[in-house]
Amino acid sequence: MGTIEYTGNHHAFRDKLRRYLDEAVAPHGEAWEQAGIVPLSAWKEMGEKGYLCTWVPQAYGGRGLDFLYSVIIMEEMAHIGESGFMVSLHSDVVVPYLFTYGSEEIRNQFLPGCVSGDIVAAVAMTEPDAGSDLASMVSTFREEEDCFVLEGSKTFISNGINCGVVIVAARDSLEEEPYNAISLFVVEAGTPGFEKGGKLQKMGLRSQDTAELFFNNCRIPKANLLGQRGSGFIMLMEKLQQERLVCAVSALAGAETLVEQTTKKARECIYGSGMPLIKAQEVRFALVEMTAHLKMARAFVNDLVNQHAAGANVVVETSMAKFLTTDFLNDFSRRSMDLLGEAALDDDDVFAKALRDGRVMPIFAGTNEIMKEIAARFMGL
Ligand SMILES: Cc1cc2nc3c(=O)[nH]c(=O)nc-3n(C[C@H](O)[C@H](O)[C@H](O)COP(=O)(O)OP(=O)(O)OC[C@H]3O[C@@H](n4cnc5c(N)ncnc54)[C@H](O)[C@@H]3O)c2cc1C
Repeated sequence: MGTIEYTGNHHAFRDKLRRYLDEAVAPHGEAWEQAGIVPLSAWKEMGEKGYLCTWVPQAYGGRGLDFLYSVIIMEEMAHIGESGFMVSLHSDVVVPYLFTYGSEEIRNQFLPGCVSGDIVAAVAMTEPDAGSDLASMVSTFREEEDCFVLEGSKTFISNGINCGVVIVAARDSLEEEPYNAISLFVVEAGTPGFEKGGKLQKMGLRSQDTAELFFNNCRIPKANLLGQRGSGFIMLMEKLQQERLVCAVSALAGAETLVEQTTKKARECIYGSGMPLIKAQEVRFALVEMTAHLKMARAFVNDLVNQHAAGANVVVETSMAKFLTTDFLNDFSRRSMDLLGEAALDDDDVFAKALRDGRVMPIFAGTNEIMKEIAARFMGL
């Protein structure tokens, strides 16, 4: 419990990935933030290197690797702080819908491109008036003789500009009961009636192309319905465990990196009396406290990774891990700034960026309040 048994192959994969990210991804972070988007060429290169959808079976162009390889990618992306390049959302949140619920035709049509980086994937549930409460979504679909027709709009969709395929949740215009009304559809970029809006301006994740999406008389083939008609809620629920675990793994790795960076900076800084900042009792105690919290969270999250990889139902625990780790990341980024003072702002953007980028993590993938609501219900409270 609390330890992940990585093999030599996992370690070698991590080392190679870390070198690649340090050399080929991290140096572009600032330019991508200024552009407000990660170029498609970077996605393509990640695919060529074999770092997208590593779990996809070889029959669909993937490498058929275990979940721990995905965890390594989440951790290493968090380690370089490139949170706008949402590789794990693509590989471990969206593409699993295509694999699990897509027909053989859908799998063959999209999975090879998602692995190679030719196709970036997104999932569109949220609407201007439907975030936590998806039952209140108003985007609809209707069935015609040879197609489904989507109408409505989505907002705050990650990878919204780059996406070549998007999984869209919409309600049946003929069904009253909300929990039987939602279906999921695979919509390709370029389909008439599907339009991408502008990139949304955000306080953080500035290289992430979060966007609005519009569907206007958007006619899609019947074969693009995922799973059974009306089973959208069930499919979304089934995939929540992994989505929340992705969030927890990334937030924890981000918080661990932040504490390492804070420690390093505090060693370098000299304060008033000529002493290194690290010798101030307040700084030392804060670093000890943050490290102790992270060690507990590390044991908890590792255990969940093991259980999830073994197929266990740990949705309540992953909900707890999601709010715990994302709260740590936010608390620690604010605390690091306070401890380091102007030293946190003087040379690079590491600490301010952590503060900006971490802020959304308690909000997306289910808000932290909703995580607590789920846990409270499970605990019979
Ligand atoms: C950067 C970013 C990227 C995103 N990417 C995507 C994406 O790729 N695809 C997608 O579909 N969506 C995406 N979202 C949307 C995200 O999932 C929603 O923001 C989130 O679900 C919360 O919805 P909301 O913002 O409408 O808040 P609301 O649901 O309106 O909630 C507002 C407040 O009320 C609280 N609240 C709501 N209901 C309850 C309740 N029952 N009990 C207690 N408290 C409650 C919430 O916790 C929150 O504090 C993204 C959002 C952001 C900011």
